[in-house]
Amino acid sequence: MTTLVWFRQDLRLGDNPALHHACETGQPFIPVYIDAPDEEKPWQPGGASRWWLHQSLTSLQESLQSKGSRLILRHGATLETLQKLIKECQVTQVVWNRRYEPAIIKRDEKIKAILKEQGVEVHSFNGALLHEPMAVKNKEGRPYQVFTPLWKAYQQLPSPGTPLPSPKELTIPKQWPASVTLESLRLLPRIPWDQGFYTSWKPGEASALQRLKTFCQATAESYRDQRDLPGLDGTSRLSPALHFGEISPRQIWHQVQELRAALDKPGLEQTEVYLKEVVWREFAYHLLYHFPHTPTEPLRTEFKSFPWKQHAKHLRAWQQGQTGYPIVDAGMRQLWTTGWMHNRVRMVVASFLVKHLLLPWQDGAAWFWDTLVDADLASNTMGWQWTAGCGADAAPYFRVFNPMSQGERFDSEGIYVKTWVPELKALPTQYIHAPWTAPSNTLRDAGITLGTTYPRPIIEHNEGRQQALEAYASMRGK
Ligand code: FAD
Repeated sequence: MTTLVWFRQDLRLGDNPALHHACETGQPFIPVYIDAPDEEKPWQPGGASRWWLHQSLTSLQESLQSKGSRLILRHGATLETLQKLIKECQVTQVVWNRRYEPAIIKRDEKIKAILKEQGVEVHSFNGALLHEPMAVKNKEGRPYQVFTPLWKAYQQLPSPGTPLPSPKELTIPKQWPASVTLESLRLLPRIPWDQGFYTSWKPGEASALQRLKTFCQATAESYRDQRDLPGLDGTSRLSPALHFGEISPRQIWHQVQELRAALDKPGLEQTEVYLKEVVWREFAYHLLYHFPHTPTEPLRTEFKSFPWKQHAKHLRAWQQGQTGYPIVDAGMRQLWTTGWMHNRVRMVVASFLVKHLLLPWQDGAAWFWDTLVDADLASNTMGWQWTAGCGADAAPYFRVFNPMSQGERFDSEGIYVKTWVPELKALPTQYIHAPWTAPSNTLRDAGITLGTTYPRPIIEHNEGRQQALEAYASMRGK
């Protein structure tokens, strides 16, 4: 009796229900990871995600090896690969933790049915969410489309419970099947644009748990007040670890609740906002599961006729952080360099793309997909549709973020802008979010020549705002 533990987006040993199930049987098991990006099309992992995956698989290999086991790596069609392994190793059972992307659901259902038909025992588990989307419906039996009622429903659902412990011992098979090398999966970029990732991140389960611990000790109690300030390290930065399952939301929930048990009212308020964000992630999965067309199509159907523009030059300026709006450019450069962007700034840059530039939200989502280390089909889709006003519980389209006042409000000292747009470093803070308003001698003293050392705004704010409102009105008039 041998079990295959098929690792996917659950690259951890602790609180891993599929792994736990395999350990409980007391029988030998083979941990396997299969690289099959074609099966995720059109949402195969982007460049930054593949970088993270490489590091995370290295870390999982090391964790398994430290317990005497191994991670078998294979590349190619999943069903055939599993079938080969089943035959080679006399496997009687295959286990995995569920995923919720439409293409993956379809593939996994097919694999489950075929393996069962062939007499293999198959079990799948929830290892990625506090509550799975199929278990959460409103009073009418329909999916939620607004966050607050979903949050309220979560209060009524059974507590997510205590995380499963990391297994002490892993029973190994008498013989190991062959494995390809991690390098042969070619997950790292051929053109090395990833140097900044190495200094920004330490992927892997141990690091994710340490990050959570540090967050609980140092940041959680001021989360509500600081989470919107991109110049501070005021959030947990656990999004890539959550995406790749190096940590589970249940582990996060449990640890934050433990912290909350000792907090007074202000501390409880600060940390509740954090728990709500974790549930926003659940909401994103809820929406993706119940509305699987939304990665490409607007949830609100009236937006199908929205008059989006095509403008390659504007799109490139946005991608490269050369729009002339410092907060937007800082965000886009932080993304390019580190593979991550602060949530407040994600909203600002996304709003700028879809409103000021009238470029389709799908173009922005595609760029994020390739460049974010936490690129996640559920959260990315929800974030973009929310900003564009065409999603669930969305910001109304007519509310157009003003990049100057967003900068002044959330980066009042210009710390964030000066970090990511160093050519503006010497500019007095009062002009940092609108350099074109600075007197010419001030610009000269700061070493700035607009249009040369730093771009002029690619679109004037009021003009962009007006165009956006007109486009919205034209859609409503149709
Ligand atoms: P924290 O503030 O520490 O929050 C803790 C966790 O809660 C996060 O790790 C994340 O899992 C979850 N969370 C927080 N905010 C949100 C949110 N608005 N929506 C869903 N989950 C949330 N998040 C991704 O994980 N992947 C994406 O591809 C992604 N794309 C986005 C695109 C746009 C346009 C926008 C506006 C937001 C997007 N987000 C995405 C959501 C959010 O920006 C990130 O989850 C957050 O910035 C991650 O940083 P953190 O871990 O420090 O978050």
